[in-house]
Amino acid sequence: MPRINAERLLFALRRFAKFGAYKTGVHRPTYSREDMESRHWLMIQYEALGLDASIDGVGNVFGLPSGPKPSLLIGSHAESQNHAGWLDGALGVIYGLEVARAFADAPDCAGLPIAPVAWADEESHFISLLGSRSYVGDIDEGEIDRARNVYHGQPLRDALNAAGLAGIPRRQAEPERHVGYLEAHIEQGDSLEATGKRIGIVTSIVGIWQYRIVFEGTQNHAGTTRMAIRKDAGVAAAMLAMAIAERFPQVAEERSVWTTGRIALEPGAPSIIPGRAEMLFQFRDADIRVLERMDVALRELVEQTSSKSGCAASIERTATGQPWVMDSAFQSALENAAERHAPGLHVRMPSGASHDAQLIARKLRSAMLFVPSIGGISHHWTENTPDEDIVLGCQVLADAAESILRSA
Ligand SMILES: [Zn+2]
Repeated sequence: MPRINAERLLFALRRFAKFGAYKTGVHRPTYSREDMESRHWLMIQYEALGLDASIDGVGNVFGLPSGPKPSLLIGSHAESQNHAGWLDGALGVIYGLEVARAFADAPDCAGLPIAPVAWADEESHFISLLGSRSYVGDIDEGEIDRARNVYHGQPLRDALNAAGLAGIPRRQAEPERHVGYLEAHIEQGDSLEATGKRIGIVTSIVGIWQYRIVFEGTQNHAGTTRMAIRKDAGVAAAMLAMAIAERFPQVAEERSVWTTGRIALEPGAPSIIPGRAEMLFQFRDADIRVLERMDVALRELVEQTSSKSGCAASIERTATGQPWVMDSAFQSALENAAERHAPGLHVRMPSGASHDAQLIARKLRSAMLFVPSIGGISHHWTENTPDEDIVLGCQVLADAAESILRSA
């Protein structure tokens, strides 16, 4: 049975957080000097375990066992959001390393190959989920040619070049080489903490659908235009937002979420009736049928709002991420391991955030484990998880990895 070394795990996590240390968190944007240093550090750790360590053309780092037996990939993403937390991504990456170390230490785990991995740019500095999308063949060279850093505009090609990755092939998924993929991550919400649970077993990762809705009214003088003849695009957008707030609870499920992230009025001056309103709207759910229901409801509401307000409306769906169901046998392995180490303190739950596992699941059986986030805080340097939960999560992951590999 693999026994993880708590001290070694916490030490490695804290060491990893020194790459781009910022306040109590990290600032480690994809392909920055700190990010590349952290990836090279990982390769050294993988090599020390006798693994074949490599970095591919988008910065994904692999530690591949040499034998013919299919291995279990374990990891997450190595970079961080700007000025963000020390555990988002790093936790899963260092768990992969510690599980590989624990298996190497356990004589009865000889012959059960663990392949730690660190994906690149899940955090969207250039392309959201770039590393895992590249691995599953969901990206072409043209998209890489066109991509730029979303914060400062640097072309992705230049960043890859500066990082020493230009010309290196992008590794493609080899389903025959791996039993599957496990990813651990901080929850980034407060569900676990609020319910006193210590382990979340992810059932599915939500799909995210996004929309741009535009109302075209009539721009006119705010003092001389009678109320009765106005076509105020700003009022239309506000009416729609309110109509959604009333209607969506009837079509959504308990864990569905929806957000109006932006309403922009034009021209946006106090004495001018807005002639145009653009609204960015998003909803998430783990069930495609619920997503489709919300889509139908949204389109109805847009139409109703248009006729009530007298403003022409258009709706464009700008993103349709599909929800992904996690492998049920892997979920059971995680649940059994959680029950052994934290009886009654685990729960199955969907993930409201995107993760690399939703891409890897297209090619390999995949599952995810969550540990609690203190106060539900993430994407901020105060992000944290109690040490004992960090240790527990890794032991549960190691146990699940063993049972998955033994039954493979
Ligand atoms: Zn993450």
